[in-house]
Amino acid sequence: MIPTPAQALDLILDRVEPIPATGKSLSEVLGLAVAEALNSQAQVPPFTNSAMDGYAVRAVDLRDASLANPVRLRVLGDLAAGAIPHRPMGPGDAFRIMTGAPLPEGADSVVPVEDTTQVGDWVELRMPLRKGVHIRLAGEDLQLGQLLVKAGQGLRPGDIGVLAAAGIPEVPVHPRVRVAVLTTGDELVDVSELPGPGRIRDANIHAVCAQVAAAGAISVPFPRVPDDRLQLTAILREALAADVILTTGGISVGDYDFMKAMLEELGAERIFWKVAQKPGGPLGFWLLGAKPIFGLPGNPVAAMLMVEEYVRPALRKMMGFAKLHRPMAEAGLEGGWVGKAGDRRTTFLRVVAQRVDGELKARLTGPQGSGILSSMLLANALAVIPAGVDRIEPGGTVLLRLTEEAEDH
Ligand code: AMP
Ligand code: MG
Repeated sequence: MIPTPAQALDLILDRVEPIPATGKSLSEVLGLAVAEALNSQAQVPPFTNSAMDGYAVRAVDLRDASLANPVRLRVLGDLAAGAIPHRPMGPGDAFRIMTGAPLPEGADSVVPVEDTTQVGDWVELRMPLRKGVHIRLAGEDLQLGQLLVKAGQGLRPGDIGVLAAAGIPEVPVHPRVRVAVLTTGDELVDVSELPGPGRIRDANIHAVCAQVAAAGAISVPFPRVPDDRLQLTAILREALAADVILTTGGISVGDYDFMKAMLEELGAERIFWKVAQKPGGPLGFWLLGAKPIFGLPGNPVAAMLMVEEYVRPALRKMMGFAKLHRPMAEAGLEGGWVGKAGDRRTTFLRVVAQRVDGELKARLTGPQGSGILSSMLLANALAVIPAGVDRIEPGGTVLLRLTEEAEDH
């Protein structure tokens, strides 16, 4: 039985596990998933302080202040950020205070410097103020013990700033997965070479490595592998040092498609080979011990689609993310689509999705052949057409995988 895309995904996700977490310092955790919920180790701000440069005052002292009748307060001293007030304030007193400096005892509000005039040791104030303005109360931002991030959440710059403020220097995170990427095919040459007769440039090594990196994993590109059993086996052995192996090409039923045979000769257990989908039917998934190996098709579009739909969620699970999939959304398909009648496969169409007057619309990028790499230049989403549906009327609703949404976290 050839698995459906959903079955194939389950077969994969059931067999990959998060790589154990280790403690890392905040400077090393951007984009990584935390292994456990983190609670604040401090209250933030730690003390009540000024939100403005100005004067710390008692609001009651300014009750009767007006333009015609300014109130004068005695300035007891200067408080810079980091300073400690050396004495409390009483009625008629003020401190000159800078943003972030601790509010002196007795003060309850801050008057911005723009609204004041200092004359010698006195400050003149011309209007009343609401008690408590322009101060930041101890603990008003974060409380001790408050939940900051959940297990499986990817850390963004803002999260890292909060963790720092909350007194958490080291975080348990799942490491990035190291992914060996192998491209196979006698016809392939490096991008920098001029392809000779019958040769083409190796697009997959760059496309797939970029996808791996974009998923937050580390791609380890291997030298191109010719369609030769011995060389393929030798390079596969080397690739076993990585956490995951991705190969492209040689996975089909052609005379020089050796991937399946060589992997199985090395002892890899085949979980499935082929998915009931278009494009990209041949996708193989093996386990060698616990090591996942994905055999992707050679066609660049098919290979990239497979990485998007199957490899990326697996890598995210291994990296400990709670959220494995990109968001999906319904859209109207402008121009519609006509497929092959009676096709029992799921079809993935490359589309451009765009919001028009608040409604999500999609249109095909153009020809959908699995060799048409240029469709990838335009696409920002994949329309997923269920098996058995062979036609979408113009404007008909399709389900989209939004491949360029804001990064998951
Ligand atoms: P295969 O899966 O090896 O039968 O390859 C299918 C098609 O994809 C063939 O037309 C190959 O030339 C092409 N192809 C395979 N590998 C690559 C690659 N790394 N970059 C670009 N095209 C490729
Ligand atoms: Mg080939």
